[in-house]
Amino acid sequence: MLYKVLSLADALSQDFPLSKVMVDLRSLDGVDLDALGSIGAGAILRVDGDLASPLPMLHSLTMPEVVASGDVIRVHPSGQVNVLYRRGANANTLFATERCNSRCLMCSQPPHEEDDSWRIGEMIDLLQLIDHDLPVLGITGGEPCLLGEGLVEVLRAAKRYLPNTVLHILTNGRLFSDRAFVRSFDQAAGQVVWAVPVYSDNAIDHDYVVQADGAFNETLNGLHNLAERGHRVEIRCVLHRQTVHRLRELADFAYWNLPFAEHVALMGLEPMGYARSNRDVLWIDQLEYADTLNQAAAYLWRRGIAVSIYNIPLCVLPDQARPFARKSISDWKNVFAPECQGCTLQDSCCGFFRSAGDGWRSRGIQPVGLRAIA
Ligand code: SF4
Ligand code: SF4
Repeated sequence: MLYKVLSLADALSQDFPLSKVMVDLRSLDGVDLDALGSIGAGAILRVDGDLASPLPMLHSLTMPEVVASGDVIRVHPSGQVNVLYRRGANANTLFATERCNSRCLMCSQPPHEEDDSWRIGEMIDLLQLIDHDLPVLGITGGEPCLLGEGLVEVLRAAKRYLPNTVLHILTNGRLFSDRAFVRSFDQAAGQVVWAVPVYSDNAIDHDYVVQADGAFNETLNGLHNLAERGHRVEIRCVLHRQTVHRLRELADFAYWNLPFAEHVALMGLEPMGYARSNRDVLWIDQLEYADTLNQAAAYLWRRGIAVSIYNIPLCVLPDQARPFARKSISDWKNVFAPECQGCTLQDSCCGFFRSAGDGWRSRGIQPVGLRAIA
């Protein structure tokens, strides 16, 4: 079951279906549960279970601070609770599928070939319970486009329940080489930003990185087909030893061949999944490519293409590149190193992935300026 957790006041004033609302009574006593049941509330959340309830009751959470008002949770019959949407988080993402048609060397979420099409229904249910003023919602995988018509249905539901939310969908774009497939997404044009990785200016390097012959041509055709139907696209490149050597050429290629891209994201590696097992072919200290990265970002920016640098700490970037850097790491994955104590840039720095131990950190990490520590 999915539930929207809401305070009693929010449950009564907001327009989420009451049967899907779990009223948070952890700091409220004396509520008439029969009355709550009679208006159709779905369940209640309490600190402990010392109360007979006419409504399904979730209680005695082992980590009560994890569930907050506004969140959407999945409750298993076993009592296990997953938070699927977190109100106020700096990023919320729907996980579309574990399947993928590529096997990228640095995939942080290695694919599994199980039928998980049940996720389609769950995503549609979840969309009804997400706050209507959410500016951006991510969709990721695996490869979301493998859901086919299922993804079309999800986007239809998003348009209905979250018409003002931009959907940022990570896809390798290969299936968009089929123009009929692209046309099935016409209704989503404008609401979706398709974030598509291009790892090089040539097919050999790109296909090696994604471990799939023909992928470069499919992705490039897909990008053009999307643009032709009026879709918004972002180009992404994950930075590692197999991509940084032609980063300048990639910027040039993107400018000349993908001028419709509204944004280019140049991203540090997340050391998870295949990235860990392929460390030997991927690892390069960020200091070694910081100047190239700066040149590539400046090249695009000077030509009017919005560009961002993700997941690279500010202290390893040249001064001129720092304005492109974003606080890009989701709050629940984000940590800082002991060296960061007192650094004047910490508030605007992305820091590190929690999964990045010392072995994945640049030798260039050092505090910039020093501020007094209370
Ligand atoms: S990185 Fe993305 S496209 Fe590549 S294998 Fe993983 S899920 Fe598939
Ligand atoms: S020392 Fe830490 S906070 Fe400061 S710029 Fe480097 S990584 Fe960021």
